[in-house]
Amino acid sequence: MNQNQETSLAQIQNFEGKYPKQLWYLFFSEMWERFCFYGMRGMLTFFMINQLFMDEKVANLQYGATQAFVYAFTFIGGLFADKILGFRKSLFWGGLLMITGSLILAYDPRQFFFLGISFNVIGTGFFKPNISTMVGALYKGGDIRRDAGFSVFYSGINIGALFGGYACISIGKGTFLAGMVPENLRWNVAFGLAALVMSISLITFTDTRRSLGPIGLSPFRRADGEIDAGKKWYEYAVYLGALMAVPLIMKMVTNTQYTDWFMYIIGPLSLLYLIYEMTRHSWAEVKKLVAALCFILFSVVFWAIFEQAGGSLSIFAANNVTDKLLGAIKLDPNGVNNAANSLFVIIFAPIIGIIWIAMAKRKIEPNTVIKFGLGFLFLGFAFYTFYATRFFADFQGMTPLDMFTLAYFIVTLGELCLSPIGLSIMTKLSPARLQGVMMGMWFLASAYGQYVAGLFGASIVSDVENASAMDKLISYTEGYKQFALYAVIAGVILIVISPLIRKLMQEVK
Ligand code: GLN
Repeated sequence: MNQNQETSLAQIQNFEGKYPKQLWYLFFSEMWERFCFYGMRGMLTFFMINQLFMDEKVANLQYGATQAFVYAFTFIGGLFADKILGFRKSLFWGGLLMITGSLILAYDPRQFFFLGISFNVIGTGFFKPNISTMVGALYKGGDIRRDAGFSVFYSGINIGALFGGYACISIGKGTFLAGMVPENLRWNVAFGLAALVMSISLITFTDTRRSLGPIGLSPFRRADGEIDAGKKWYEYAVYLGALMAVPLIMKMVTNTQYTDWFMYIIGPLSLLYLIYEMTRHSWAEVKKLVAALCFILFSVVFWAIFEQAGGSLSIFAANNVTDKLLGAIKLDPNGVNNAANSLFVIIFAPIIGIIWIAMAKRKIEPNTVIKFGLGFLFLGFAFYTFYATRFFADFQGMTPLDMFTLAYFIVTLGELCLSPIGLSIMTKLSPARLQGVMMGMWFLASAYGQYVAGLFGASIVSDVENASAMDKLISYTEGYKQFALYAVIAGVILIVISPLIRKLMQEVK
């Protein structure tokens, strides 16, 4: 049995052509999962303000808290996958929790809002890091096709995010399918759509998982394919623990002070854990882990700025952005806010891939660290563009959708220099036994990013009582100018210290 699995792993990794076929299966599962995830998160801030009548500041903070937990749980999900469940069972369990959460929201989004969200938070934690790690497992160490694989996978993420991000909120707001959905059920249908699509994701995965050979099986599996009855209890304990965490998450999200404490604890704890793991690895492996940690720490800053998307930029879109693109195409500015980034990723990911290859041929391709640095510079430039929208505003404080969309284009260039490459580099720099944990840590950086993004977002809300659209425009854009500066500083530092990080990476490119 074991022998067979070994050969099948070799078969998978010795694929011919550009991509392994399993990549496409994971691509589709992740695409549908991201439809559900981005569909839902794209509704949160708007729903909290307009349906739950929360204050903008509170909505920003609570939105940031939900997103921080989503990504914080990816660390926990990655850890349990490595040690107990294996990637596949984690994915399945996470998917089930996400479907449950979305169904609860579809049933009564107002009354059970935080309950539904909490199921989704935990579910995503089990699903998200482990599917990315499985993509990495399709490649042998040193296979130069790995980055291209992650780039395709990243497009899948964004196809899902694009359709989910646009469809769910516009159904909820009634700017899409309004004729087909009764007015009083719009939000139920919008959340219900997320549940439906998440089911498609899970069915795609279960239908194709056999093709993954031994990838993602339980670490407790014996040579004969069975799991000791005693060890099964560990699995049940994880399932039970996850369910017990639901009310806890609810409490912590609604009281963002608890979120603060949680964030103060989980990061240092994960670092301690990593240090402990380091003592069990060789010096060469440790140096690579330290390099991975540098990427992780910088990415916190990136996401803190980038992730204004779901929070302050969503409010900015609703308050200050017109609904006409190029003077003619009428579009919901919130829909654009949720979808433009993904659309640009889908279009430009392959183009950037071609540019890297062309540069590689001329031997001028920037290394991973410099690409990260460029990512920050683009991010800075994009936020200067969000700032500049104020110069194009009318007297009512409404600024054109065109400028707003242009800024998203530049944000996307930055993201493409950092995010898919980050996933890939995690799988390259981590030893086999820490793949899930390190991917979890990569996403944990997003958790901190989201958390800080919420604080940043709340800090730029206008203090003027009964602020006019113009007051809001000024106060938000002033904030964006600050964020732009932070991004540029981070980019410059990264580029300056790049030789040091490259030394730690050794032969990894
Ligand atoms: N947009 C990407 C995704 O959904 C990256 C998100 C992140 O790491 N913060 O996977």
